[in-house]
This record gives sequence, structure tokens and C-alpha cells, in this order.
Amino acid sequence: MANPLFDALFAPLAQRDDAFLILPDGAGITGRDFLAMIHRAAHALTACGVTPGDRVAVQIGKSPQALAVYGAAVACGAIFLPLNTAYTADEVDYFVGNATPRLLLCDAKALPALGEVAARHGARAETLNADGSGSFTDLCAAQADSFTPVPRDADDLAAFLYTSGTTGRSKGAMLTQDNLLSNAQVLTDCWRFTDRDVLLHALPIFHTHGLFVATNITLLAGASMIFLPAFDLDQMLRLMPRATSMMGVPTFYTRLLSDNRFTRDLVAHMRLFVSGSAPLLAETHVQFEDRTGHRILERYGMTETNMNTSNPYDGDRRAGTVGFPLPGVELKITDPATGATLPQGEVGVIEVRGRNVFKGYWQMPDKTAEDLRADGFFITGDLGMIDDDGYVQIVGRQKDLIITGGFNVYPKEIELILDDQAGVLESAVIGVPHPDFGEAVLGILVPAPGAAPDLAAIDAALRTSLARFKQPKALEVMADLPRNAMGKVQKAELRKLFAARFG
Ligand code: AMP
Repeated sequence: MANPLFDALFAPLAQRDDAFLILPDGAGITGRDFLAMIHRAAHALTACGVTPGDRVAVQIGKSPQALAVYGAAVACGAIFLPLNTAYTADEVDYFVGNATPRLLLCDAKALPALGEVAARHGARAETLNADGSGSFTDLCAAQADSFTPVPRDADDLAAFLYTSGTTGRSKGAMLTQDNLLSNAQVLTDCWRFTDRDVLLHALPIFHTHGLFVATNITLLAGASMIFLPAFDLDQMLRLMPRATSMMGVPTFYTRLLSDNRFTRDLVAHMRLFVSGSAPLLAETHVQFEDRTGHRILERYGMTETNMNTSNPYDGDRRAGTVGFPLPGVELKITDPATGATLPQGEVGVIEVRGRNVFKGYWQMPDKTAEDLRADGFFITGDLGMIDDDGYVQIVGRQKDLIITGGFNVYPKEIELILDDQAGVLESAVIGVPHPDFGEAVLGILVPAPGAAPDLAAIDAALRTSLARFKQPKALEVMADLPRNAMGKVQKAELRKLFAARFG
């Protein structure tokens, strides 16, 4: 019997004597050897008591061994639950309590705290360190290197990914085999991945971008990955000439551009740069094309839905847009109050439906019912619009919408103007409590290196370009914006920081 995800992604590794993973030191792991690692890990999971449908939680550094646990969990019919390595033991306690995994894999350094967490929630704890060593690896070493995958249906769960949850508790998004596989198939096709591709992989593998988009496509296409533990500018520059493609968050692109060694020659061998997980500044898009001749392909997705839209591979990749709905994805813009579909060109909530959309939030039927309509449309919480040419533009998160004196203000509109001002590197616009207006618009600026933006001049520029109610009531300067591991600006943190600004 079949296990569709395993059969499509991992089983073909048996035919590969070429390097599937290329490590920073140049060493390679062949497809065949990587599959043997997966098989041994699948036996080890079974030895730890993991049975089909069990959750396998991991909070481990990025390594080939860590990636093999993903394949092993799929082989065992278990539900893979990767956790952000930045989470504290208290945070992990919540996830483990919520998901009740059979097994928790963690770094040996975290074992004193996480061993207790696991014990408290009835899970077994084993270690897997960033260098690939650990008690789980020892257990793997004793196992046979062939394993018969457990049969699964397309609708069976393959993974829980907890949402980044900048407000309220994180929710476990339940993703099925078909959610993952169908999206990988569509993206491989749209972005023309083949067995000749070598993807430069510097993203974390606890998040949908690095784990599912990047890894699943590489596996499905029979391609290879240069597998870096994290983004390291020197390593990126050194290894880029061996790659054909890269997937990154916007900060990857700004960091590459900040280095003069990043030249057109260096990327002569590349065919595709993909960006997502956070908005790419139009300016970065333009600078990147000037420097390299490549137009970055921006796409849009989220934990709950996998990827929804993409700029075209052939055709105009437009800065400031996330392109068109992917094949098989229906996308509409709705009125946040009534749910009615809005006409093209109007800003509203982005809703999506398709095989890519998750099954709901683990043990949160109320939350699921709130966000996932009975007809299958998922209310993403992102605000956006479809322009005259059909390109989707994202305006921001619904919860970041500012309501000041009864008027709606979309931060993005103001941020775009602030970003354009002399001496400004980037900006964030938030709403903070205000005694008269309910919320007031606050603009936060990050100066360009060595620059000191002229706040009075910027204020004057805003007065000519924005309606009065949209004009920030104050401008603040910060050295950096708070960002999470995926480069997303943490507006909730900014709101906390400036909560008393007008109080
Ligand atoms: P996550 O679930 O962590 O992947 O976060 C998903 C959220 O990231 C989406 O709901 C969007 O708000 C944001 N996002 C992802 N891709 C883009 C993009 N290309 N442009 C703007 N925002 C994006």
C-alpha cells in the first residue's frame, strides 16, 4: 500500500548516487545514503514507541540528521512537529502540552529543561545535536537501513506547524500529506525545478519556507541542495557559484546586496531567486536587478496554506506584488465585516481555497471555525487587493490595521512613502492608543547607514502626500526593527514598546 508523500519525495532517493545534500565543507551525501539515514531513523522512531498518527516534536539545529527525521516521520506515518529553535523551555512546554507528542528530540544542552517538559507531558526525550550527534543518532546507528513505509491516505496528517502567533497563543496547523504534496508539485512545475538544479539552502527547517517549499521541491524534482546550517554571508558568497537557485527571506537579499563581493559574475550560474515569508521592499527588487540582472520572484504563502500565489516564472515579476494565485488555488478579497467578495482593486481580507489549505487547528475547533469557512475558504488575516492586471498585492496583516478616529489606515501605504524619504532605510507604521483618536498612527524610521533623517522634512512630505487622518502623529527613530527568525517585523512588539507614547 502507498504512502503518497513518502513515495513521491523520499523513495526516489534510492535511485540517486549523486549528492542530494552538499555540505558547507564540500562533502556530499548521496540520495541513496540519505534514504538509508531516513530508514534507520524510522526504525529508531519505532523503537522509541512512535506509532502511526503519533506526533514527533523536534527542537533541533539544522543538520542532515535533522532533515532525515522529517523523512522518517513520514515513513512511520507519524506527524512531524518541528519547533523554532529560539523557543524557550516554557514555550516548548506549551507546544508539548498541546500536541502531546510521543517523542521530543532536543539538543543535549536543552535536555535538563526539556527532559522535564517531556516527562511532564508523557513524552520520551532523546537528543539530537546540531552536529548530528546525540542519543537518537546512537539509536539510529544500531538500526537496519531499510524500512517499509507505513501506508497512508492523502488525507492523513503529515505535519503540525505552529503558527508564529505574534498575538495570542500559537496554534498547531494540521497539514495533510496531500496539502504538502500538491503544493510541492505545483511549485516544482511553476518554478521549473529539475534534477539539474542545485538549491542554496540557508533557511531554517522548522518553518514552512525552508522545510516544505525548499526541501519538498528539491526532493520532488530530484534536485540537490547546498545545505547550510544558517545564513552566513561569507559561505553564501563562496557557495553561490555552485548553485542554480536560492530561496530566501527579504533579509537574505538585503544582506547579499550590502556586500560588494555580491556581483553579476558571482551569480552567472543562477537561474532563479525566490523571496517570501515577509514583504520584499520594491527598492530591494530594483537594486537586485541592477546588480545582478535577475528579477527576484516573490511569492506569498503561510503556515496554514503552504504557498498561495507566485509571480510568473516567464513574464513580468512585479515588485511590490506577490503575483497570481497558483494553479489550483482560488483566491478572493472579501469585506472583513460581511465576508462578501469585493470588486477587483478594493482592499479587503485575502481568502484562499485549494488542496494546499490545511485541515484546521489542532484541538481548537472554535479557532478553526472562525478562520476556515464551511465552504473551504481560509480567512488568511492578510489584507490585500487584486490589481487591474490580476496581480495580488499585500497591504499588511488585518490585526495591524490602524483605526484612528474611525478611519481605516493601512500601514503599508505610509511605509512606502516613508521608505522613499532621504536618509531612511526602512520603516514600520503602527497604531498605538491615543486619548482622542482611539488609536494614533505612529511612524518608526530606521536611518540608512550613516544618515540622520530630517524628521521635519519628512513630516512636511507626508503632509502633502497623505490625507490628514493617515499622517503619523509622531515619528520615532530606531536603529533596527525587531524581527523574528523569518525576517518578519514584529509589530506587536513595537506596539508594546510605544504603547504609552500618547498616553
Ligand atoms: P508564516 O505562517 O510564518 O509563514 O507567515 C505567513 C505570513 O507572512 C502571511 O500571512 C503574510 O502576512 C506574510 N507573508 C508571506 N509571504 C509574504 C510576501 N511575499 N509578502 C508579504 N507578506 C508575506
